[in-house]
Amino acid sequence: MPAPHLIDAQVLVLDQALQLLQQAGALLPDEAPMTAAWLQAVLDALCDLSSRDALTGLANRRSFEMALAREVDRVARSDEAALLLMLDIDHFKAINDTHGHGAGDQVICAVARAIEQSVRPMDLVARVGGEEFAIILPNCAPHVGLAVAERVRERVSKLDIEVSPGHRMLGVTISLGGAFAPQWVRSSPLLWMERADRQLYRAKAEGRNRACLEPQVDSLVSAEERGMLFASLNLDTQQDLP
Ligand code: GH3
Ligand code: MG
Ligand code: MG
Repeated sequence: MPAPHLIDAQVLVLDQALQLLQQAGALLPDEAPMTAAWLQAVLDALCDLSSRDALTGLANRRSFEMALAREVDRVARSDEAALLLMLDIDHFKAINDTHGHGAGDQVICAVARAIEQSVRPMDLVARVGGEEFAIILPNCAPHVGLAVAERVRERVSKLDIEVSPGHRMLGVTISLGGAFAPQWVRSSPLLWMERADRQLYRAKAEGRNRACLEPQVDSLVSAEERGMLFASLNLDTQQDLP
């Protein structure tokens, strides 16, 4: 039987957690309070809350980074190509400056919904910065990568975003950069992000409202060649390579 002061401390922490969930509009567990099922439901709700971006409800940067690390592992094991897209709203500062921060927030939410609606349920869409998003697309064949990126870009460019006050309709564009996880070399999440980001900068530099993907250099490498590569470098697949 725990000492009474320990029980008090537990109740205090739980109260804070429940307040946090209530404030975030999370549904509180139906189970009878303080049962194991109730505690588990509270924990599940807290995990969900800590993995989501408060403004858009998308995955936040923390859960994106965890998902990216898992995807690097999966690609190395499954040999299936995966695509990482980094997205950034064009000239977003001007939207804030002209229409106000509230309108900017509405634009961010509308773009978030449009991105979600352009990809498969298995793809992970995250808000990774102020007006920056990322999509992890597992099992994405290299020859469809650009079409997917274009589909997202086009859907966002067709948005008519109603922002208050005055119900003004705003249009917005995004730039996208993408890179595939190399199937034959174990990459790291950081290197993968850097490669996709480089393509995003290229899309911005080439005029915005466009998608640039890293050219695929590894698609012609056979399984046998992969084996030779690892043997000649005396590496196993656990090593990070660019
Ligand atoms: P570029 O086309 O090069 O991406 O230009 P940009 O204006 O979109 O980029 P910049 O980085 O100069 O501006 C991003 C702005 O986003 C600046 C910042 O004040 C704003 N911002 C960041 N987070 C939020 C947010 O949560 N809500 C709103 N409304 N604005 C935000
Ligand atoms: Mg930006
Ligand atoms: Mg921007």
